[in-house]
Parts: sequence; structure tokens; C-alpha cells
Amino acid sequence: MKDILLKEVKIRAVNVPLKSPIISHLGTFDSWPYLCVDVVTNNNIVGNSYIGPYLKEYLPSIASTIRVLSKSYENKTIEPYSFYQHSMKSLSLLGFKGIALYGLAALDIAFWDAFAKIHKKPFANLLGGSIKKNIKSYNSRGLWLIENNKIAKEAETLKKEGDFKALKLRIGRDSYKQDIKAYNEVIKGAGSDTIIMSDFNQCFTTNEAIRRCHDLDNIGFYWFEEPIQYNMLEDMKKICKEIKTPITLGENFHGPKDAHDALLNKSCDMIMPDLMRIGGVSAWLKTASIAESFNAEVSTHLYPEVSAHLMCLTPTAEWLEWVDWANPIIKDPYVVKNGSIIIPDKPGFGFEWNEGIISKYKVDL
Ligand SMILES: [Mg+2]
Repeated sequence: MKDILLKEVKIRAVNVPLKSPIISHLGTFDSWPYLCVDVVTNNNIVGNSYIGPYLKEYLPSIASTIRVLSKSYENKTIEPYSFYQHSMKSLSLLGFKGIALYGLAALDIAFWDAFAKIHKKPFANLLGGSIKKNIKSYNSRGLWLIENNKIAKEAETLKKEGDFKALKLRIGRDSYKQDIKAYNEVIKGAGSDTIIMSDFNQCFTTNEAIRRCHDLDNIGFYWFEEPIQYNMLEDMKKICKEIKTPITLGENFHGPKDAHDALLNKSCDMIMPDLMRIGGVSAWLKTASIAESFNAEVSTHLYPEVSAHLMCLTPTAEWLEWVDWANPIIKDPYVVKNGSIIIPDKPGFGFEWNEGIISKYKVDL
């Protein structure tokens, strides 16, 4: 195949309203900011990616890191793996974590999308995997810290959206009794066969977390997520030792080494990397191998479209987190049926932009 070269990288920013607000220990959010990246080749193949770095005020600085990183690849043959390795080395000056890594992730995803489109294959097929039809997915788009009398109805709605078998409930309410009440309301609305994940969003001190996890240990939660500040690995290890319910970490791993350190230290029982914070597709694949070497389950955090392909290539793949927050910016959003995400039979990751919505909610960079 003739060399296909990078011609240009386009970056657009949007801030899209959410259907219902996110109310968590980390804050309340009515909208979600995204950077939409297009890498354009000399024969006009376009690789797409988006990242959602939480706070719209940071979009310009991340866009700036994308521009700087991509400079090295102008007029070079599209080689996503080599680009990732080169970019990571270059980050030794700026640091391997934080917004520069987010910028690298956005580029890496878009380069892989372009590469798969060049080869006219869905990404998972390009890497020699098969497109799985049964990627079990849980609905994570709701059940925030809302009033107890609203939980049952919301749980019923969320379960029906894709015939989901599992939902995630945010906990860490004022008392453990309120968390138990909230759990029971989910069961009331969604049925007793529903699998319920839980997320504390780092709300406790270590002693409080141990107390609360003990109080809830026999309720039936599938996992406890981030009971304390995410990087306190020694304290997380203590919690893991004391508690029977599996403890999960990962949305705040910045790069594969964080996953390695947490697993080696026995600071969690399973992991759930975030596609952006881990460093994109290349970094995810490294992390999947690390998890395999520890025989630890891997679930996903946000970015269901690209993550679905990655779950086809993750040996210890477990649950895919489903959220629909980015659906407005995507032309034909992925769907979930019978509790499994459906990967479209299209080259690359299989999504294109809804240009009308991108124009409507555009943010200046
Ligand atoms: Mg979480």
C-alpha cells in the first residue's frame, strides 16, 4: 500500500447539555465538554476521536498539547504504535500524567481510527480479534446522589433502556442505612435479579471507608469503587484485605504503570481504566496485558464506542460501562440490546460526527 501520510489535525471543542444532571461527591454537572479530533490524511481519510476532560476551562490547554504533539507527525506515514511510543518519550519533559497524557490519548485514538479506515476494517478485526456480540454492559448514566424516592423509578427506566442486567448506584450517603435504602430502591424498581455496582467517588477517609464498606459488605453490591482518594495505594490495600466485596480502581490510572503499581501492590481486586486517562488505545492494550498477567478482570470507564472494540482484545474483559453522554455529537450512536453493546460493522471505531450538534454547542478554543 502506498504511504498514507498525515496532512493535518483538526480540533473542535463542544460543551453538550446532559439529559439529566450528574450529582456526585465530585460535583454537580449539567453539561459535558468534549474535544473532537480529526486526523486527516493526504488521501482524505479522516480518523476521529473524542475525549471528555470534565471541565470546559481546560479544553484550550489540552487542545494546545494535541497541537504540539501532532507537529512531529505532519507528512509522516500513519503509524499509531510508533507515534505513541515517540510521544510518550517526549512527555518526559512535561510529565507522563495529566493533561498532556489526555492530549496524547485523543491523538492516539484518532490515529488508530484512521489506520483501521486505511485498511478498511473495524478496529478489533484489524488487530486480529473478532467482534464480540456479547460484551456485557451496565447502565451507568444515572443513579447519582438523588433523593431516595426517585431511585426506584429511575432504576426501572435505566434497566429498560437496553434490557440491562446491571446498573451502577452512587453511594456514600450520610449514613450506611441510607445507602442500604438506596440499594433496596434500585431492587424495587429494577428487580431482584439486577446486578448493582457501586461508586463512592473517593468520598471517605480511610477509617470511614473501612467502616462503611464493612456495613455494606453483605448487602450484595457487585463491587465497591474508589472508596478513598484514588492514589492512596497503601490504604486501598488495607481496605481490600478487610472487605469481601471486590474493590475496583482505575478511572484515575494515568498510564499503564499506574495499573501495574495498583495490581502489584494488591490495592484493588479488579481494574476499570479510562480510555483518556490511561493514554488512549495503545496504552489500553498495554494495560490489558498487565491485567492479564495478574489474572485481574478489566472493565471500562466511559467512551463506550472505542472501549467496546478494546474489550474484544482484552483477555480478562469484564463489564463495559455504558453512558450516552456523547451520543448527541455522534451521527449514529451505538446501541445496547439485551444488555450488550452492539459494535457496528464499519471501518475504524465506527462513528462519525453529528455536525449540526457540534456547531450548535461549539466552544471557542
Ligand atoms: Mg467512578
